[in-house]
Amino acid sequence: MLIKQLRLSGFKSFVEPSTLRIEPGLTGVVGPNGCGKSNLLEAIRWVMGENSPKSMRSGGMEDVIFAGTASRPPRDFAEVVLSAEDDDGEELEVVRRIERGAGSAYRVNGRDVRAKDVALTFADAATGAHSPALVSQGKIAQVIAAKPTERRMMLEEAAGIAGLHVRRRDAESKLRQTETNLARLEDLMAGLD
Ligand code: ATP
Repeated sequence: MLIKQLRLSGFKSFVEPSTLRIEPGLTGVVGPNGCGKSNLLEAIRWVMGENSPKSMRSGGMEDVIFAGTASRPPRDFAEVVLSAEDDDGEELEVVRRIERGAGSAYRVNGRDVRAKDVALTFADAATGAHSPALVSQGKIAQVIAAKPTERRMMLEEAAGIAGLHVRRRDAESKLRQTETNLARLEDLMAGLD
């Protein structure tokens, strides 16, 4: 998958609608301290379905909404639009929007979808909120110090098989539900004899 463009509005320090074109190859973001470099990387993670406020350096998820400054009022919503091209050359537009008091909503190519669908789309394409392709400050040291299980998770993300764990858990839960239904059915049938 090729991430081609990022559009932010009301997300953290990006109060005005801002567009960032991402060209093929390695992309680095440079700028003075506090200008919003990490916020950009967090916007990519967020639109991909990141749900841990901690990894957004926030107390709660609504903290990603522009909180206002001495001269500007806060915003009521934050929106990030990620435009990408998948491995088949199809255009993909993913939108995540959060409104105060109303939580997050996602759209993929104009259709409302669940957070899980978005996370799986990116996990299958070997990218996503925890992708090793997104290298934030301190990440290199973290990779070196990682435990073997954590390193394995990174390799699984890179190999595009991380989504299989979610599907396995779903399948196991369906299997358990079916076993319970079967047991109830057997009880009912025994009662009919
Ligand atoms: P450094 O080089 O120091 O790591 P950086 O360029 O990565 O900095 P960020 O950490 O991305 O900068 O941006 C920090 C800025 O974003 C701070 O000025 C902070 O006040 C602002 N900011 C973060 N969240 C919000 C928010 N919800 N509303 C308004 N501004 C915010």
